[in-house]
Amino acid sequence: MSFDSLGLSADILRAVSEQGYSEPTPVQKQAIPLILQGRDLLAGAQTGTGKTAGFTLPLLHLLSQRPGHSARKPRALILTPTRELAAQIGDNVRAYGRHLPLKSAVIFGGVKINPQIEKLRRGVDILIATPGRLLDHVGQKTLDLSAVEILVLDEADRMLDMGFIHDIKKVLALLPRKRQNLLFSATYNATIRKLADGLLDNPAQVEVARRNTTAERVTQRVHPVDKARKRELLAWLIGDGDWQQVLVFTRTKHGANRLAEQLGKDGISAAAIHGNKSQGARTKALAGFKQGQIRVLVATDIAARGLDIDQLPHVVNYELPNVPEDYVHRIGRTGRAGREGEAISLVCVDEHKLLRDIEKLLKKPIDAQIIEGYEPDPSIPAEPIQMGRGARNGGQRHGRGGGQQRARGQGRPAGNGAGRGRGRAGRGRGRGGNGRGHRAA
Ligand code: AMP
Repeated sequence: MSFDSLGLSADILRAVSEQGYSEPTPVQKQAIPLILQGRDLLAGAQTGTGKTAGFTLPLLHLLSQRPGHSARKPRALILTPTRELAAQIGDNVRAYGRHLPLKSAVIFGGVKINPQIEKLRRGVDILIATPGRLLDHVGQKTLDLSAVEILVLDEADRMLDMGFIHDIKKVLALLPRKRQNLLFSATYNATIRKLADGLLDNPAQVEVARRNTTAERVTQRVHPVDKARKRELLAWLIGDGDWQQVLVFTRTKHGANRLAEQLGKDGISAAAIHGNKSQGARTKALAGFKQGQIRVLVATDIAARGLDIDQLPHVVNYELPNVPEDYVHRIGRTGRAGREGEAISLVCVDEHKLLRDIEKLLKKPIDAQIIEGYEPDPSIPAEPIQMGRGARNGGQRHGRGGGQQRARGQGRPAGNGAGRGRGRAGRGRGRGGNGRGHRAA
């Protein structure tokens, strides 16, 4: 099936073909005709499915076919959880709309507000925004939302996770009653349902990757390892596999900084990206990563949300997330738009309960493989996981002993005590280990 049969105008099809897309992805095939009919939509699709084009292309079509108004107030509003995602959607809107006379603007916090005010003053048809900064503009009366015809809530689950529900409700109250609403979410829960019920009018539903399941092309693997040897193992995996572009998740901002620093000392170029970094630093790190100067990007969940990085082959969970759904989001960074990807989790004894919760959500076990030389030491007891501020749902408790589980290796008993090597270089080190004696972190 080609894009031609979806009902999009020639100017949009031209831009799509200039992007090099030959065929619509499943979510695009399903969503585009429904949106063109003017219907409200509830779409279950995660990043990597092509969902952005799935709503942007028909949105551009609809706006360009209908007359605008002289004041040039925003006619479409796309709300997203993070700055990075807003910027990426902005890039996409510009690319797909390059042959159309529509103007767009991206609005997020952490940068100066005045250039945004100036842009809004000159007139904008499509506004892509994070909720907080959007409301700042409304408060300053530099933005009028009374002409919005189409509302998109992108990554709605994430916006709710990040505590944006009140901001979203405030924004909704500022919009005209009659409008088209599109809600995209990677996962569903009762809160999303409630939001959807209140927002959407007789919505069509589209669901690509099944609910809470992980992208099919992603190979998932667990490497059991002691906490103190995770960094050493990570360096070894990067070198052994000759990984050139790796996204690594940590649970805390501090952990992200520390790991990036340590990898740097190991001779592996790395940068951390998280909420405490300035927008400039985040953009720079992402650009360096995309261009190949930075081999490892270490990120927290919130910072990584929605990062659009093409052909990302490796995602590593240096620490498992506290919330199982975050695992699905994390590994959604790899195997994108039909490409193969690999998601590796380094799991220590403290995290066995988290792993079980993730496997329960996936409804399948994840293959576990002990790397020779990095066998977990069975005498190390499980310790409670430090709950950072990112912990949600009140956190789960991980009592001592609660995490002790059978060895998950491929036939190799974990309990021989070999390779403990705490404080000395592990056996089995490959090229990535750079031969220097690492001390355990
Ligand atoms: P998204 O799920 O919107 O984050 O898109 C994931 C990636 O797929 C982006 O890098 C898009 O540029 C790319 N993409 C979107 N639609 C297509 C398509 N029909 N064919 C090939 N790549 C696509």
